[in-house]
Amino acid sequence: MNLGLSLLYAAERNPYADAVVDGGSRLDYRSLARVAATLADGLTSIGVSPGDRVAMVLRNRREAVELYWACQWLGAVVVPLSWRAAAADVAYCVADSGATVAAFEEASLAAALGCAGTVERLVAVGEAAGGDSSADLAERLRTAGGSAPSLVYESLLDAGDAAGQSPPGGDLDDRATSILLYTSGTTGRPKGVPRSHAADRAAGLSQALHQSYRPGERTLGVMPLYHTMGVHTLLAAQFVGGCYICQPDWDPQQALGLVEGERIGSLYLAPTLFHDLVHAPAVEGADVSSVRALAYAGAAMTSALVERCVEVFAPEVFVNHYGSTEVYTYSVHFDQRAAPGCAGRPATNARLRLVPPEPGAGPDDGVAQGETGEIICHLSSDEAFGGYWNRPDADAGAIRDGWYFTGDLGRHDADGNLWIVGRIDDMIISGGENVHPLEVEDILERAPGVQEVAVVGLPDERWGEAVTAFVVLDPDAARAGEAAVAAQLDAHCLASEDLARFKRPRHYRFADALPKSPSGKILRRLLREGGG
Ligand code: AMP
Repeated sequence: MNLGLSLLYAAERNPYADAVVDGGSRLDYRSLARVAATLADGLTSIGVSPGDRVAMVLRNRREAVELYWACQWLGAVVVPLSWRAAAADVAYCVADSGATVAAFEEASLAAALGCAGTVERLVAVGEAAGGDSSADLAERLRTAGGSAPSLVYESLLDAGDAAGQSPPGGDLDDRATSILLYTSGTTGRPKGVPRSHAADRAAGLSQALHQSYRPGERTLGVMPLYHTMGVHTLLAAQFVGGCYICQPDWDPQQALGLVEGERIGSLYLAPTLFHDLVHAPAVEGADVSSVRALAYAGAAMTSALVERCVEVFAPEVFVNHYGSTEVYTYSVHFDQRAAPGCAGRPATNARLRLVPPEPGAGPDDGVAQGETGEIICHLSSDEAFGGYWNRPDADAGAIRDGWYFTGDLGRHDADGNLWIVGRIDDMIISGGENVHPLEVEDILERAPGVQEVAVVGLPDERWGEAVTAFVVLDPDAARAGEAAVAAQLDAHCLASEDLARFKRPRHYRFADALPKSPSGKILRRLLREGGG
């Protein structure tokens, strides 16, 4: 079943249930389906056909949700891109995707101008209140030049006619592409990941299942819709007749207000966002009693942060969801309280193996129990992509004999549970020994005064690479002076029974913040490049 039909069924099932909330505006399922149908007509009127790509460079706002569903309704391919990305990167992805239409807002205006030469139409999405209207934005685009004519979002709604009320793409094969997500990766150009209606439907259903969504689940929509976590949160909520509460800009205090005001039941965030949330001063007085289920993905969560989340939310369910853009869910652990950081067992749709982390290793080359290996996932997963967009080179690097090579390192414990060790590219080789950043970070995060830490290897004449910790300190701890803090941290590592002596950092660098991707991944590459 394609996702256009899925919205139609949702609207027939729960017409008056809240579907989307964005500030003062609320849409129930009946209205959402009507808007999606109208917009789909509007897109058709400007020449978009099923299979065409429609880029949107929007924050998590009502119009982004509407456009997403309009594309599903029509059978067009939505290409959500980061409004925080540099204009040149957006222009690259828009051109690579072959999008003919691109929607922008104030935050992404520079990017709009950057791709005005490649698309046929720009759609301006303004603010309802307190900012430029769509007409103002369209005017700014016009006066700044660029060859693509711009039009206002509202005109697509005027041009549309929802009289038909069934998706024109209703008979669309569910193996057709629903969305093209771009992964930044750690090096090189972003790669397009086409995902079919069937794969995304399976991914959303598996999220609802693994994170024990209830009928009418209310969830915070802050993970960006251009990221796999964001779009599947929207889908998972829709499958259970739930409500997606938009938060366009991350602000932990505002998020706590939304939790309280909208009685949010489930939070699925990157660890960084949980970190901000549980350390926000407002958390003390906030009513978070509605939150029943927590889940994180995108990066490992330290045990200190797991404990703090448990303290604040006392969740019934606390899931570690390990996955990627290419294959949504690899593995799930359902009770982080019992085993912080554990990635658990293969998910419902996943078949996983560990193979030696060496070039040329094949899917049948096993590793001994307890040994570290590269995690690979079979592409027969219902949630899996079928290969990158026009990138045979990337396919050749990542896909072998029907298995997707994740580039992640993991090991199995004696009970058969998976633990993520880190990215192959991030492994540090110091004095001939392998050191994985996560194991050192987990110890340092527990030291008094440490807010956040990232560990990388920096070139060193004696060690090859020297284990180096970049640390963000609490203001109180920082007052002690860097040399004194470094000595305390070294003593803390030496006192830890869980960290071999040779793995402890040789150098400490202190920073105000750590560079991160929008999905909360620490950009270790930038630390390596800037820290040498
Ligand atoms: P993305 O495609 O941006 O979602 O990135 C996928 C990558 O994020 C994975 O290959 C892992 O390196 C990392 N990742 C995702 N989920 C987790 C998790 N629960 N624990 C540790 N790393 C994770």
